[in-house]
Amino acid sequence: MNRRQWLSTFAAALPALASAPAVQRRGNPPQAAPAVLDLKDFQPRSMLQVASTRVPRARFPVIDFHTHLGFRAGRLAVGQGEEMRFPAPPAELLQVMDRVNLRTMVNLTGGVGSGLQQSIQRYQTPHPDRFITFAEPRWSEANRPTYAKDQADDIERAAKLGARGVKVLKTLGLYLREQITTGPLVAIDDRRFDPMWEACAANRLPVAIHIGDPSAFFLPIDRFNERFEELNNHPDWSFYGRDFPSNRQLLDARNRVFARHPKTTFVALHVGHNAENLGDVSESLDRYPNMHVEMGARVGELGRQPRTARRFFDRYQDRILFGTDAIPHGNETPQQVFGEALYEIYFRFLETEDEYFDYAPAPTPPQGRWRIYGIGLPEAILRKVYNENAVRVTGIPSIPA
Ligand SMILES: [Zn+2]
Repeated sequence: MNRRQWLSTFAAALPALASAPAVQRRGNPPQAAPAVLDLKDFQPRSMLQVASTRVPRARFPVIDFHTHLGFRAGRLAVGQGEEMRFPAPPAELLQVMDRVNLRTMVNLTGGVGSGLQQSIQRYQTPHPDRFITFAEPRWSEANRPTYAKDQADDIERAAKLGARGVKVLKTLGLYLREQITTGPLVAIDDRRFDPMWEACAANRLPVAIHIGDPSAFFLPIDRFNERFEELNNHPDWSFYGRDFPSNRQLLDARNRVFARHPKTTFVALHVGHNAENLGDVSESLDRYPNMHVEMGARVGELGRQPRTARRFFDRYQDRILFGTDAIPHGNETPQQVFGEALYEIYFRFLETEDEYFDYAPAPTPPQGRWRIYGIGLPEAILRKVYNENAVRVTGIPSIPA
């Protein structure tokens, strides 16, 4: 008999006492809770009392391999023109960088042509050890007859301008079409890009490649979708139905590119675009020695499978690069807002064994309602993930310990 049953028996046996305030409170008083609560209003606070470690500074200097310090017009679909928009000046970024021990930011979306030149001049030229810049392909010209060669030449020009790599957005595979914005989707392994991948190898530019998206983005936006709230807020992020390939088809096409260009170094962003399935990412890493991975915006996925993630970091410690996908003032996606709060979450995940903490600085977990666990990496692996692997991949001078 539990306490409540005992009390109700006791109260029934002693009706006079049952009306006494002390007993009444322990009965089953009517509650003021709403009968129905909107999911968006549900913000449960964990009652778990466990260790909470502050990690305001990384233990070793960090290279963030995945940031966005500039944007081209129409960036989510197919980038047009060369004009750039920059959300923050270097001085503002440097203040945060110094506080959290962030030595270097890799600005992946450096743009093309004169836009690329602007990106380099704004960040990299005045602070060469703090910012490096990646160039982007000219997707909006992919239907021109001379594109294959022109794009390869453009990669060489970008290298001469000072770009340290090339960024491939998910434009390739999910947005770029035969007539740029109309017609059938262009395949990731389309032959017209072969000279570009080879030019990247010839100019020693690693390719940071983003293919596909979280598995849930390829499923119906319904009550079974683990990222229902996120997709409900951003229905245009869904790749379910219409003429979109499956995530598997996208990954297979990507793998054919890795196989066909073994001299090109690829960094598959977002944990190889398949953070929900580290077994599959491992298979690809085993098969393609030219593949690396980066962890931006997937600390929520890695941290909800801490034992599998820890084994993954042990096994591929030489091929995992630190990254966040940070965007200065990127308030639309709380898991990517550049700042101290974001970096502390990544450092806590990598450096501590804290349990059940938020993966994004937000009142509600924005990429699915769960929390994460730290994997407490040893120092030797931390150094590799924080900077040594990125130094090797980008060819920048190594960072003094
Ligand atoms: Zn990104």
